[in-house]
Amino acid sequence: MRIYTLGTGHGDSTFCRFKSSTAYETTDGTVYLVDCGAPAEALLRRKGIPLPRLRAAFITHMHDDHAGGLSALLKQIIKGYNYCTETFTLHLPEEAAIAPLKAWMRAVHEDADNPLLCYRSYGAGKVYEDDNLTVTAVSTCHLRTRGRTEGDPCSYALILDFKKEGKRILHTGDLRADFSDYPAIAREEHFDLCLCEATHYQPEAAVDALRASRFDRLIFIHVADRWHNVPGFQWQYTRGEDKFLASLAPLPYPAVIAHDGDEFLL
Ligand SMILES: [Zn+2]
Ligand SMILES: [Zn+2]
Repeated sequence: MRIYTLGTGHGDSTFCRFKSSTAYETTDGTVYLVDCGAPAEALLRRKGIPLPRLRAAFITHMHDDHAGGLSALLKQIIKGYNYCTETFTLHLPEEAAIAPLKAWMRAVHEDADNPLLCYRSYGAGKVYEDDNLTVTAVSTCHLRTRGRTEGDPCSYALILDFKKEGKRILHTGDLRADFSDYPAIAREEHFDLCLCEATHYQPEAAVDALRASRFDRLIFIHVADRWHNVPGFQWQYTRGEDKFLASLAPLPYPAVIAHDGDEFLL
């Protein structure tokens, strides 16, 4: 299977990183999207991925950098699905987000109620299953760092079990600054790959948990400006990637920082 890190930035786009979106493509060509920060649909097109091959999307939490590209994506899916009869299922982590999203679609004169679009909300536990993929959500506390203190935190890490490929992937979503909501299952069970965010914590807070994790590979996404390698951009960030990875070394598995448009084979 192939993984496309479409957008690898955080809440603020930079000239080298758009907001967060990752596409997972199985060997039969079916594509699943995790997070849809803008401009996810444009970045899918740049990768030559026909939108009718997109079967489902999963939004880890409703921050703009993870959900702000949805209306453009849904518009293009409706267009593309003129050639397809299979529904596209959007999984949102808050039931309350569905009606405003549909209202915005109508405000921009798009067909929010097109029968090819299916909107679902999810919570912790099993989210989705088809012949390719099972998705399970684990609660994180990322939104509680923004003033939410009670109720469902509505932010999730996702466990993606690709059945035909026999691959298990952990996609962390955004985490707390102290890394305390990093999923315990990363240390308890084996994963072929983890995609971990790299904005909300300092590497010192994460290093013990990452070293104890049972991964074969780790790809960092959602990368903070301070960890960019951008010669001539801001002098203090020119070797950011090297500093970040050096702070974690040695990890017991290969780890890289992804860039927009990177492709990884698994
Ligand atoms: Zn984010
Ligand atoms: Zn966030």
